[in-house]
Amino acid sequence: MLTLFTKDYGVIKAFAVGAKSVKSKRGSATSVLAYSNITLDKKGDTYKIIEATANRVFFGAGSDIITLTVSQYFCELCSFFGPHDESADEFLRLVLNSLYFMTEKNRNPSLIKAITELRICALSGYAPNLVACEGCGKYEDKTMYFKLDDGILYCEDCKKQNTVSVNRTVLDAMRHIVYSDAKNLYNFDIPEKDISALEKITEKYIIFQSEHKFSTLDFYHSVK
Ligand SMILES: [Zn+2]
Repeated sequence: MLTLFTKDYGVIKAFAVGAKSVKSKRGSATSVLAYSNITLDKKGDTYKIIEATANRVFFGAGSDIITLTVSQYFCELCSFFGPHDESADEFLRLVLNSLYFMTEKNRNPSLIKAITELRICALSGYAPNLVACEGCGKYEDKTMYFKLDDGILYCEDCKKQNTVSVNRTVLDAMRHIVYSDAKNLYNFDIPEKDISALEKITEKYIIFQSEHKFSTLDFYHSVK
């Protein structure tokens, strides 16, 4: 039984008789992190894989462990946040692009992770309001303060307890991730120290919003 993340039906489980066999043509097309064309047979609530052809398998032996771990975390995010039994076109495109930029373009895995986390929140109905200070409407301050449980911003004058500070670079990046067109999503870069601050915020935010513990995220921290 495999869990598939599909464009047309979101997250589904399907039987893949023979998929584990080395000789099977379906083998690589149904391996972890394979992007494949799959023909399914549906009887009642049960799917069975009839045919599978790999378009791209994102990882081979010897792949970088951090990139691999982040990719597996993306799979867990799909399984948790992805639509079930309904179209998941935009969500799937996001995850495929994230895998592509990490593995083919060698973009910083921590930055791609942050982009993916925050954009998934936005796609799943947990978009933070990053437009302006919740108290006075100020758009920009040297430092702004982000409230993780409510997903709202405050300026220096209005700041509340239990907020995390966000500098301008990190805030611009967060705004870009939430509000940009899909085609421009990956089209920015920020210094290493800001990536680290951004990643801390997006990770805490997705955990706060989902109230879920992701085991692949624990593994990521143990290898990092
Ligand atoms: Zn304010």
